[in-house]
Amino acid sequence: MTRQLMKWPFQGKWIAAGFGLTLLFMGLVIFASFNSTNEIKQGANQVQDTYQTLNTLTNFSAAMTSAESARRGYIFLGNRQDLQRYQNEVINMQSELRLLKRQIHPTSSIQQQRVAQLNLLVNQRLALLEQSIQLYQKDKTALQTQTDITDRSIQLRGEIMAAIANITVEEKRYLQSSLEQSQYNINLRILIEILGTCLSIVVIFILGIILERQWIKREQIESLKSSLAQEKKLGELKVHLFSMISHEFRTPLSVILLSSQLLKEILTELVDEKQLKNLYRIQSSAKLMNHLLTDILTLTRAEAGKLDYKPHLINIENFCLNLVEDLQLFGITPYPIEFLNNGKCFRANIDEKLLYSILSNLLLNAIKYSTDTEKIYLILNSEPEAILFQVIDKGIGIPRGEQPKIYEPFYRCQNVENIVGTGLGLAVVKKCVERHQGEIIVESDVGVGTTFTVKIPHINVLK
Ligand code: ADP
Repeated sequence: MTRQLMKWPFQGKWIAAGFGLTLLFMGLVIFASFNSTNEIKQGANQVQDTYQTLNTLTNFSAAMTSAESARRGYIFLGNRQDLQRYQNEVINMQSELRLLKRQIHPTSSIQQQRVAQLNLLVNQRLALLEQSIQLYQKDKTALQTQTDITDRSIQLRGEIMAAIANITVEEKRYLQSSLEQSQYNINLRILIEILGTCLSIVVIFILGIILERQWIKREQIESLKSSLAQEKKLGELKVHLFSMISHEFRTPLSVILLSSQLLKEILTELVDEKQLKNLYRIQSSAKLMNHLLTDILTLTRAEAGKLDYKPHLINIENFCLNLVEDLQLFGITPYPIEFLNNGKCFRANIDEKLLYSILSNLLLNAIKYSTDTEKIYLILNSEPEAILFQVIDKGIGIPRGEQPKIYEPFYRCQNVENIVGTGLGLAVVKKCVERHQGEIIVESDVGVGTTFTVKIPHINVLK
């Protein structure tokens, strides 16, 4: 559940990235379309310009031909209308030439040179024609000179036509390349738009899948949350129920213990020690039952996260001595439990009830899983960062393979045979140690014995 919750921000990042990517694609498509539209526009303008240039060249050629025919008409027939027409066509030629200079590609220096050359040739020819007209007006019989001028004019016309042809070829080439470029730009634009749209659709599709998965996960989390809430409620109910039961059991148990104690005091005077054996059994069984009830309640509270933790300053040496005496009074072990204080730590800030659960469970296990002849040790030690409690026995030991499982509730090792137990003691010990932020370590060998070490860190300990 926590893992799934942690995945949320990760998925959120994917969605944001997906949206970002879609926007980026769209932006790129718009940018590329805009660029390509501009290029298409420029291409169209170029095509138009080139057409106009070609048109100007055609008009110029027509004006030049018309001017020549008007000159001849004037010289050979003496028609003044032809002179007028000649002059008009010359004006037309000059204006077409000026137009051509403006229209010709400013970037193409060869074309510029060609137009300059054309201009030169045209000026030469116009000067020649002017000379022919003036000569005719002075001397109408100078036919030989007129013929020379006409020859020279025809030669110039040929050169002019060749220059126009060169310019036209180059302009047509421009036209062709502009048309090809326009076609390429149109195709590119179509491709970009198709590609951009496809990519956006793919990203949106992936986003849809992610969102759907998130939606499913959210539903799962919701249902997990509700089952968790139900579990919590059940846990609380369990704690309530066990508290009630243990309270209800404890009262008659206390009556049993008190009555048996009174009975013992009366009977000690009247009967001998051997006959009191059954009374002792009643007492120790009642105490064990009380202990078991405490264990169940502690474990239930711990699992519901409601284990009380009220540390206060206690004298741990006295605490251990009292505990050992208490267990001795249980009358379970005929051999004394030996307590040793190897450290210099006497006071500690510990929850007394939890420490009692820890040490009593460990010592009762040590007693339970040892023979009557083996001694049991409770050793108190101190380290710079922690206080250490050790419970050592020379009993049956715990098989190595099973050691990691012994803290699980109800787990009992294979080698316990017919020794009675519930499998709850060590689970309780573990919870109580964790509540102190401490740790428990077991060292054991089958047939050799067991040492449990409980470390309580100094945040709980005062020297
Ligand atoms: P139980 O009521 O069975 O003693 P515990 O939770 O206290 O339950 O212990 C779990 C198991 O760990 C025991 O059943 C036993 O197999 C093993 N164990 C615990 N303490 C000892 C010990 N001192 N010596 C040998 N085995 C032990």
